[in-house]
Amino acid sequence: MTDALELKSCDVAIIGAGPAGLSAAIELKKAGIASVVVLERESEAGGIPRHCAHPPYGLREYKWMMTGPSYAKRLVETARRSGVHILLKTTVTMLEPGGSLSIASPEGPKRLTAKRVLIATGIRETPRSARLVSGARPMGISNTGTLQSMFYLKEMIPFRRPVVIGTEIVSFSALSTCKKAGIQPVAMLEEAQRPSIRWPIHYAARWFGVPIMLETRLVNILGKNRVEGVQIADKNGDLHKIDCDGVLFTGQFTPESALARMSHLELNYKTSSPVVDSFNRCSDPTYYAAGNVLQPPDHSAHVPYYYTADNLPQPVDVAGQCWDEGRITAQWMVKDLQGKLTVSS
Ligand SMILES: Cc1cc2nc3c(=O)[nH]c(=O)nc-3n(C[C@H](O)[C@H](O)[C@H](O)COP(=O)(O)OP(=O)(O)OC[C@H]3O[C@@H](n4cnc5c(N)ncnc54)[C@H](O)[C@@H]3O)c2cc1C
Repeated sequence: MTDALELKSCDVAIIGAGPAGLSAAIELKKAGIASVVVLERESEAGGIPRHCAHPPYGLREYKWMMTGPSYAKRLVETARRSGVHILLKTTVTMLEPGGSLSIASPEGPKRLTAKRVLIATGIRETPRSARLVSGARPMGISNTGTLQSMFYLKEMIPFRRPVVIGTEIVSFSALSTCKKAGIQPVAMLEEAQRPSIRWPIHYAARWFGVPIMLETRLVNILGKNRVEGVQIADKNGDLHKIDCDGVLFTGQFTPESALARMSHLELNYKTSSPVVDSFNRCSDPTYYAAGNVLQPPDHSAHVPYYYTADNLPQPVDVAGQCWDEGRITAQWMVKDLQGKLTVSS
């Protein structure tokens, strides 16, 4: 159900209906905040878990192992039952000082002013353009999120024999989606000397029948209309060709912080997340942030996805951590709205 955006103002506006945004919304309603509005650009709420049709989700929140879609459904139902307004197909396009938001909605451009705003826009995988891979733009190039939403939400299959770029844990989530979809990747390419994923999980690639090629770099994507192959460079710089019909870019997560970047908010220049204080409050104290949008990418250290082999900083959190962060941030926002947020809070 999509509620029409008739509101012009509210107590709290939350941008993003993923685990962080929804748990914050539920917590705010629990604390008695009258109008809590979640703005979500997709046609369904739930964030990334909607298209991660595998466990483990929900252990921390519900003490129950769930797949992503059941977890997302439960969060959305709880939020709606708590009285949260979730506005779908509604993209926030601009953050302005004092909690004033520009919005693109199915009814046209709108404005919404909130006493407090929570930015919970999550992360995204680095796309091909930002990885500076040369070649034409044939069909058959995807990342994990796109593949999963194509397959699980739209029943579409973009390729049958792709090359997978990356060996983070999300790359293995991609392999599992490929298996369900009847896709057989021809290889996984990894630029480093060892897989990013923690030992010995990379052996799972064998189970999927996919060889991992270490110290190998994607140089060029071949094909005009469809992907017909890729050109790769080995550790000596020698070029080789692999025949394939797709390229699946995985991982290298980047905070979805385009909104913050275009705004007046101070940014952490290294992570491109908004700068927050110990209450997750941004440089404009009307704005808060929670969830994966606050996570730092650290590609130079070749950090794998959500737990690391060397206890390096984590580029993304699991859903339960984002859920928790949303909940706790909401408690700080409540204190703030009540004028009780102090350093000892
Ligand atoms: C392939 C994959 C597999 C994973 N597997 C697991 C797993 O098995 N277990 C686990 O616990 N975690 C897993 N995770 C991690 C988990 O899904 C994320 O950590 C969690 O979803 C992050 O929550 P979030 O609320 O911060 O962001 P997200 O879930 O990314 O939600 C952000 C929301 O904000 C919306 N949004 C962004 N910009 C705007 C805008 N301008 N206007 C309106 N809406 C906007 C987006 O559409 C999205 O719905 C996986 C992640 C991936 C990518």
